[in-house]
Amino acid sequence: MTPSRYNARAMRLYALDGYPQWTGLEDPVHKITRIRRLQAELRVKSDGMIGPRTTRAIGIEDYKRIMDGGAQGAIILGAKAYPVHRRVRQFVDRNLRDDLTGISRRVRAHQLVLHHSATYDNDSTYRVLLRKGISTHFAIQWDGALDQYLDPVTTYAFHVGGVDAWDEDGDRISGNPHSVGFDFSSNAIPDLQNRHVSQWQEPRPYLEEARAHGSIVRYKKLPGGLGYSDAEKQGAREVCAIICQAMGIEYQWPGTKMEVIDDPLGFKGIVMHGQLTRRKSDPIALDMDEVFGEAGCV
Ligand SMILES: [Zn+2]
Repeated sequence: MTPSRYNARAMRLYALDGYPQWTGLEDPVHKITRIRRLQAELRVKSDGMIGPRTTRAIGIEDYKRIMDGGAQGAIILGAKAYPVHRRVRQFVDRNLRDDLTGISRRVRAHQLVLHHSATYDNDSTYRVLLRKGISTHFAIQWDGALDQYLDPVTTYAFHVGGVDAWDEDGDRISGNPHSVGFDFSSNAIPDLQNRHVSQWQEPRPYLEEARAHGSIVRYKKLPGGLGYSDAEKQGAREVCAIICQAMGIEYQWPGTKMEVIDDPLGFKGIVMHGQLTRRKSDPIALDMDEVFGEAGCV
């Protein structure tokens, strides 16, 4: 395949929101020499092809420029980084040294899947993911601080497993290749409120009526589940809106009920894990309409 054809295809997958202005790559299909020079500057193989590796190098450089410009934090989505109003621990920084498991994307993501990770903060989420060999793209904790573990544009994560859709052999179809993962570093079990308070000095809101798949959830006989802080909800809204905009994922969600939706594989938008499979009920006690606003509800 010629570099021009390769780049045209890679652009559609990895540069969904174009390239940063400083790259001079508005129309990379016709600018092979410019690409080679940029690759040399970024110290990646100078072959004139903008694949995942070059995209990642551009995104990381863009992140550094945004942080040098005084942003509080920024997220990396393919070839561009985006400032956010919160502290972000980045996979490109030294404080997240071990890469979580991920696979290069071959298809564009059309879903953003919300989870809770059954942990108390981003540190413990990161440790648990590493230990289990699974992954997500983002995690947010009680005070609104964010972790980014993988670039969702170039890499998919292991956060969904099988959804309630089956292939011709009767096997569940994985929800990972076409989705982005966003985790609340929270634990919903009412019995674990004390553990949360000992860490954050205030309780999680408790929703006794929290339902999943038609009935009130019970953990260790206690009904309902623990909810989310304003900082977590505002953070989810800010970050998810940027992801949807930059990655061309529709900013809509299938209502706020924790029930499996009609087309768990094909739905385009923001969705809770428990809306993709009956085997899950996370993030229980999250009100999608409250967090994302009523306008995009379908
Ligand atoms: Zn989940």
